[in-house]
Amino acid sequence: MTDTTTAVPDLGSGTVLGYPRVGPRRELKKSIEAFWAGRATAADVEATATELRRRTRTRLAELGLRTDVPAIPSAFSFYDHMLDAATVVGAIPARFAGLADADGRLDLAGYSTVARGAGDDLPAEMTKWFDTNYHYLVPEIGPGTVFRFADDRPVREFAEALAEGVLTRPVLVGPVTFLALAKAAEGSPEGFVPLDRLADLLPVYAQLLEAFAAAGATWVQLDEPALVSDAIDVPADRVYAALTEAYAALATDLARPARPAILVGAPYGGLGDALPVLAATDVEGLTLDLVRGTLPTGPVAGLAGKTVVGGVIDGHNVWRADLGAALDTLEALQALAGPESRILAGTSTSLLHVPHDVEDEPNLDPTLRGWLAFADQKVAEVAVLAKGLAEGRAVVAAELAASAASLANRTTAPGVVRPEVRARLAGLTDADFHRGDYAARAAAQQERLHLPPLPTTTIGSFPQTPEIRKARAAHAKGEITTEQYEAEMRAEIKRVVELQEEIGLDVLVHGEPERNDMVQYFAENLDGFAVTQNGWVQSYGSRCVRPPILWGDVSRPAPITVDWTTYTASLTDKPVKGMLTGPVTILAWSFVRNDQPLGDTANQVALALRDEIGDLEAAGIPVIQVDEPALRELLPLRAADQPAYLDWSVASFRLATAGVREDLQIHTHLCYSEFGEIIGAIDGLDADVTSIEAARSKMEILGDIAGAGYPRGIGPGVYDIHSPRVPSEGEVEELLRSAVGSIDVRQVWVNPDCGLKTRRYEEVTPSLEHIIEATRAVRATLA
Ligand code: GLN
Ligand code: ZN
Repeated sequence: MTDTTTAVPDLGSGTVLGYPRVGPRRELKKSIEAFWAGRATAADVEATATELRRRTRTRLAELGLRTDVPAIPSAFSFYDHMLDAATVVGAIPARFAGLADADGRLDLAGYSTVARGAGDDLPAEMTKWFDTNYHYLVPEIGPGTVFRFADDRPVREFAEALAEGVLTRPVLVGPVTFLALAKAAEGSPEGFVPLDRLADLLPVYAQLLEAFAAAGATWVQLDEPALVSDAIDVPADRVYAALTEAYAALATDLARPARPAILVGAPYGGLGDALPVLAATDVEGLTLDLVRGTLPTGPVAGLAGKTVVGGVIDGHNVWRADLGAALDTLEALQALAGPESRILAGTSTSLLHVPHDVEDEPNLDPTLRGWLAFADQKVAEVAVLAKGLAEGRAVVAAELAASAASLANRTTAPGVVRPEVRARLAGLTDADFHRGDYAARAAAQQERLHLPPLPTTTIGSFPQTPEIRKARAAHAKGEITTEQYEAEMRAEIKRVVELQEEIGLDVLVHGEPERNDMVQYFAENLDGFAVTQNGWVQSYGSRCVRPPILWGDVSRPAPITVDWTTYTASLTDKPVKGMLTGPVTILAWSFVRNDQPLGDTANQVALALRDEIGDLEAAGIPVIQVDEPALRELLPLRAADQPAYLDWSVASFRLATAGVREDLQIHTHLCYSEFGEIIGAIDGLDADVTSIEAARSKMEILGDIAGAGYPRGIGPGVYDIHSPRVPSEGEVEELLRSAVGSIDVRQVWVNPDCGLKTRRYEEVTPSLEHIIEATRAVRATLA
């Protein structure tokens, strides 16, 4: 029963849903990697983490978030918040259960092993987190998974902050999303879904809430982004029923003050039909993503009296907000929810997806810098809005005017609109998007390439060695000349070619040593982009990326990859594959201008790539791969929004690639295993060969491919490069046999899951050797 006489605790007027965890100088990454390498102890990592959490609290308070009410989130993670939720509830994959102590708790080494695998034990599967470039570890839940309150780490982190005078708001993945995103553990009966276990999980969440209350927490945030997505495996009505059941148990049956007030986080999109369901529960608060989503069009039953965080500051992008418009939205939300509701200014999502601080970018053009808001600037924007809400618009008039002036300046600045780029786009015709018949192309390509059955190749990059990194850093600092740097890269390419020839691969690559990052490299060589120095964003675990900023019209001032690729081709008689990053991925992994449709921006990038492909073709390169690992990542979470996205994204890939002769083989690489979902779009890309992740999910995709009657080449990855494990020859052979068992052998290519750049040669060389041995063994048995 709800005790209606207990007043809902104050949450203030402004908050953020989360903040970057790795640190402004990637302190956590460096520390945990040192631990993995045996150069630091677990205690060292804990000390770094404690210091980072302290720094975050201090910084957020400085920027204007209150410390007497829980406006500051406590949302730390050593690796991933889904893995954290799993460890809190004791749901460790069975193969790692032995790593836990008697209470079911993992130490840092055990936790790392679940994430990274060990020996023959595959790590937990990794997949994209909603429509972001963050990746989470997929929990494995079976009928027999024992849930228990195994780890009180989040409670200890809350207590640590409180001891230093900061009342924080613990943030955890909510029970519905935790189970909705989990996969059925191996050996689960047909038809079992993890959400079947909700009733068994809820008592553990209840215990956790009680522990928070006992420690002094007044609010907790339970994130339930599953509510905003149609792109999860569980149908919406099942999710809604789970939502009702979960929060009846946690909010109604467990009354305050035995638990803190509950704020249900709903980032990454509009709640749609989930809103009335959520509003009907007894949770005290909820967040609305008012950047991706919109305000409800009419009154919502149940919303009156709740605390509502209006997510008006974009947690997904780096542009300064229109603060006046944001305040309008918050006022409209107040009117809609009624006077009994408490409205807060907030971010639409955690700030996990943006870098720390624009002020930390001295090399950015000052005009551009004036348009940008990274995490810290967004916190300050929230603080301004909170002040406006609490004290009235007049108090923040100067800030609102500054925000309007910055937006106006962006529309007129040079480079934002370039007539020659606009004219070229306007002149495109249908023919620019189409290649000829596939069968004719396939025949012409085979005649040119003479490939054996089950051709072998890699996804492009080879390990980025410390020497490569050192040379790049020295070049950036001006310590070595461009000639010296390029000579070192050429030497590296030569080594990589020799290695591939020794191992016996069929289609060779140059290894991408000259690329710091597959998107940043192109951004640095195209007009319309800027790159940052310290703009790191967590991609998965300890891996961070530095997305470029696409601020203006895009074009290619000069060839980018042609010299490297022709040099590579000069070293071998084997076919060499040119490597480019596709338009959708360039957009997905950049912070993209928000002042024109994404499809227009994508076509600008596509035309620049089309020019590059034309030059590679003219230089005699017979195979070109255009990577689109992020094609699915940008897929809108709502089914209704997906067709329009797939139209423009597929069109931009085709615009980039359709200008070539039929004997030029176009490859693409997609970085995820849910092939079935967007098979139509993959088909629409019309690439001659598509490589795709498959090893970690044990080739679950093969059924989708076979079922869809997909006609072109397909390379289901046989080596999981996200793990340091070396697959055995037998293991690869088994994967390959299952591939040729379900799809036409003439379609099958053999390749790793993804690029090799994050791995070491000690792992890569034997892994590739095993791939070749396995391929030879399977070839030998082909009729
Ligand atoms: N060609 C890229 C590489 O090998 C592809 C990487 C990716 O898909 N993320 O590194
Ligand atoms: Zn990949």
